[in-house]
Amino acid sequence: MKERLLFLGPPGAGKGTQAELICSQFELLHLSTGDLLRAEVAAQTLLGQEAAELMNKGELVGDDLVLAIVENKLKSQAGGWLLDGFPRNVNQAEALTPMLEDLMQPIEAVLLLEVSDSVLIERLLSRGREDDNEDVIRHRLEVYRNQTAPLIDHYRKKDLLVSVEAHGTIPDISKRIMSALV
Ligand code: AMP
Repeated sequence: MKERLLFLGPPGAGKGTQAELICSQFELLHLSTGDLLRAEVAAQTLLGQEAAELMNKGELVGDDLVLAIVENKLKSQAGGWLLDGFPRNVNQAEALTPMLEDLMQPIEAVLLLEVSDSVLIERLLSRGREDDNEDVIRHRLEVYRNQTAPLIDHYRKKDLLVSVEAHGTIPDISKRIMSALV
């Protein structure tokens, strides 16, 4: 069973939902940079105030800030983990590799959740999060295509990429993910 994992896929692919299920079943740390940033926003920290403006526009928050959050969490983690929503661009991925080498915890699999645009938009509009209005959604998809999608090739070249079809019911998708992890 692989237990140092990364979820890749567009906003609305179901990364958060599936990450929660997989992490509770296999006792992995669910590390969602989006959730961690939203917690900072809710707590009205200085960092949260800075992040909120960018998040509400669908822009990425600065790499240094996100990398510091992730490093801090992984340093104190002995068991497995699942990174959800991070890395979000090539620069973050290139910083992650030496960080994990230092911790002697290399990634074991990158799961790409694949889903069509029409399903994505439908799911995002029904979610009702503050950054889920139509203009912001469109912008987040564009940011995904320009900045995050190049990671697909990045991890394919490292022979870590596994594609999972993210259509259908939540349990169906979970089963597909689990069979990719053994
Ligand atoms: P998510 O919950 O993953 O959809 O993230 C929501 C928002 O948080 C994104 O639109 C970004 O503004 C910000 N965010 C989350 N993860 C990252 C990351 N790894 N790098 C930069 N910004 C991020």
